[in-house]
Amino acid sequence: MAGLNFEATHTDNRDILKIFAAEGVEFLLSCEGKVPVSECNGKIICLFFTANWCRPCRAFVPRLVELYETLRKRRINLEIIFISFDRDEDGFKEHFKNMPWLAVPFDLNLHRRLIDRYQVDRIPSFVPSCSDGITIEEDLIGCIEDYGADAFPFTRKRHEELKGIDIRKREEADLEELLGHEGGKFLISGDDRKVPLSELAGKTIGLYFGAYWSPPCCAFTVQLTDAYNNLKAAKGDCFEIVLISTDRDLEEFNVNKSTMPWLAVPYEDRTRHDLRRIFDVKGIPALVLIGPDGKVISVNGKLMVSSYGAEAFPFTESRIRDLEAALRKEGEALPPQVEDVKHEHVLKLDMAKAYVCDSCKKQGKFWTFSCDVCDYDLHPSCLEKVNKD
Ligand SMILES: [Zn+2]
Ligand SMILES: [Zn+2]
Repeated sequence: MAGLNFEATHTDNRDILKIFAAEGVEFLLSCEGKVPVSECNGKIICLFFTANWCRPCRAFVPRLVELYETLRKRRINLEIIFISFDRDEDGFKEHFKNMPWLAVPFDLNLHRRLIDRYQVDRIPSFVPSCSDGITIEEDLIGCIEDYGADAFPFTRKRHEELKGIDIRKREEADLEELLGHEGGKFLISGDDRKVPLSELAGKTIGLYFGAYWSPPCCAFTVQLTDAYNNLKAAKGDCFEIVLISTDRDLEEFNVNKSTMPWLAVPYEDRTRHDLRRIFDVKGIPALVLIGPDGKVISVNGKLMVSSYGAEAFPFTESRIRDLEAALRKEGEALPPQVEDVKHEHVLKLDMAKAYVCDSCKKQGKFWTFSCDVCDYDLHPSCLEKVNKD
């Protein structure tokens, strides 16, 4: 799956080795000790500029280790060489402990010269030795964070290819392709049953991006559960939700999942990460709705559900337009202001996302009669008009 023509695009790595020779670098370090530079002959070399004092660097190292190990398993002859931005040798050693690849021995002057030669102005930076490699400015680090080992051979062409695959996946939304993973074509239920993806065929699907640590997500989970249960009761099995978790660990994921009546993508699965990127999910909670035909209906399902609950089904634009029109009509039928026997001030017709009715103490949304003087709300249905006669 890694680009088949990488040998053509990767220039001879003698350039890097030549620079090392010119700078007097005779050996590199591995976790076991000194390694002659000549061991890199014939390998695809990438330089990794990073420092232990830098948090984004420390966070990136495990992602790069994963990539390195995956590519080695694919028998790609890759070598990464760490060039340190650390200010002292202790930081360098501490950082290098976490890396399975090679390092240029700690030497502040030498590091500075190499940093200048490669014009590295930020860390972490990853510099592949190929002629059309993604440059530091084009954000190869971001590309690796997004695509992991699939980013290999780190060329612009490969990056364009990957973006094209994402667009196709988003537009075709083939559920088996979107939600399938290396472990197989199944999801898991709140009580840990494996549910085959084929059971989703013909249904409207909500991809719910959320996490247990996020209070807005927990609040939305309550609304979504309500809508889900109402829909199941009213329309049967036409709708399903799949949790795409951004929980911090498996334990938290299990707690999160156990509070939900729907399905989830297994936590171990990279698909969770891929789906966030494919649907460009920037914040949570988010709900992406996919129709029975496999086409994306909306990426803004959260607003639909929090506004209209189960009523929003099937979540199409025309359905939302109808709901909005009905709401407008309801408002037009109500008086702009009223006097109620239960309250001493005049009440004005108002629109609120959510309120509690001060008469029946129950939740309300949209139209309310509210008081400008004190914090008082009344369901239009709880109104008892003052009899003026
Ligand atoms: Zn009421
Ligand atoms: Zn009042």
